[in-house]
Amino acid sequence: MLELDLGCGVRAGFTTRAGGGSSAPWESLNLGLNVSDDASRVRGNRARAAAWLGAPVAFATQVHGTAVARLDAPPRDAAGDLVDSVGEADAIVATARGTGIGVLVADCVPVLLADAEAGVVGVAHAGRRGLAHGVVPAVLEAMRTAGARVERVRAAVGPSACGRCYEVPATMRDEVALARPTTWSTTSWGTPALDLPAGVTADLLGAGVADVVRVDACTLEDERFFSHRRAARAGTTTGRFAGLVALSNG
Ligand SMILES: [Zn+2]
Repeated sequence: MLELDLGCGVRAGFTTRAGGGSSAPWESLNLGLNVSDDASRVRGNRARAAAWLGAPVAFATQVHGTAVARLDAPPRDAAGDLVDSVGEADAIVATARGTGIGVLVADCVPVLLADAEAGVVGVAHAGRRGLAHGVVPAVLEAMRTAGARVERVRAAVGPSACGRCYEVPATMRDEVALARPTTWSTTSWGTPALDLPAGVTADLLGAGVADVVRVDACTLEDERFFSHRRAARAGTTTGRFAGLVALSNG
């Protein structure tokens, strides 16, 4: 776990591959349910993440959009069990103590947000489509609606594919950079690329978030994290790590 300080009474961090019960190619703390890993092992891994966070963790079914789910309590089914997904969304906002929220990634950018004073936390999944379409302003607007003040929000931009590694076709670079100019990048070997964490950081600062911490780790280069692209290049699949945040109990 990489722990982040997002304010008093807020627990936040990014998981790594370590500390879980899944075997290769999901070894070991895979938190994604839709990557062909054994579901009971994934739920066990999610329980370990929840134990670290000090709260049950709700995840959404991420679809590279801009919808935001709002939670005022941990989402449970009729039997009282935590649901696997709160539905299709690429961001979640929570306003209650003990309601953990998480975002699943393996190269896309995980964003954690908190206004500790208002008691509002948020997560966002920013891949190239979600970023270009405005998932970052969308989650900030949902936090504002829930009582947060953007200038008080602390944000963490997590491990993700960096702008020196994330190669894309030139037309795709042009499309995304039209919406988010700071994403325009070139790989270390000289081909078109996108710098998604730079785009997320620019969106946060542009919206008025003053306190932005960037975790300087590239998922393609740093094997502590799951990377969809690294796995695909090796002809295999992989798991998902998570950004997690909760308002602590007590
Ligand atoms: Zn990189």
